[in-house]
Amino acid sequence: MAHLIILGSSNAIPTIDHENTHMALVTPERLVLVDCASNPVVRLEEAGLDALSITDIILTHFHPDHVTGLPLLLMDMWLMGRQTPLNIYGLHFTLDRAQTMMNLYGWAEWPNFFTVNFCRIPADNMAVVMDDAHMRITSSPVKHFLPNICLRFDLKYEDKSVAYSCDTEPCQAILDISNGVDILLHEASGPFKGHSSAAQAGDAARQAGVGALYIIHYPTGRYASGDLIAEAAAHFQGKIVLTHDLMKIDL
Ligand SMILES: [Zn+2]
Ligand SMILES: [Zn+2]
Repeated sequence: MAHLIILGSSNAIPTIDHENTHMALVTPERLVLVDCASNPVVRLEEAGLDALSITDIILTHFHPDHVTGLPLLLMDMWLMGRQTPLNIYGLHFTLDRAQTMMNLYGWAEWPNFFTVNFCRIPADNMAVVMDDAHMRITSSPVKHFLPNICLRFDLKYEDKSVAYSCDTEPCQAILDISNGVDILLHEASGPFKGHSSAAQAGDAARQAGVGALYIIHYPTGRYASGDLIAEAAAHFQGKIVLTHDLMKIDL
């Protein structure tokens, strides 16, 4: 059965029980890692998933809380003996920097390194990231400090859809991509430039007519404040869930 595992739910400052936001989408054919925070190998192990099973990595944008785990993950998969090719998806801006980062580590000199296919996504609305028999993934640019994308996953066998806002101010792109989805994962860093509050996440969920709102990328631990569910519920009447690390969402 397809499912989503929240590997991290925190905003940019992780705390003891909350890693930076990243997640794994598991289908019978694929293990798609969305973003690559701190130490995905450990988090995947805690979730009962094998890092070597990752088929695809989507990098939303080149902020440290979304990409710093990539060099360690790639090196660890190589040390584990990976030979299967890996696909990494992202905007030109993001992948250019990800490749530069790996070049600084001198990865071209690592012997027998597995093939990495960098798949550049156009910065268009509803750009197709991947489309196979089971799943279609689309992305649209959002409003952040640097080029960034929101995502939509349509699972064809299950007839389920999930959208993820990533880091963004309220914008039309997230309303369009999440229109009518079963689950919207929306950030709630706060009412700052480049981000959204829980109230704004609730507003987006209502406008997009989603089935359920899952709040993610929010201040955790000693940085937490307020009742995020109540703030969102003032704008959205549907189901609201505060995500936590290692939460499993069946699809
Ligand atoms: Zn972030
Ligand atoms: Zn960011």
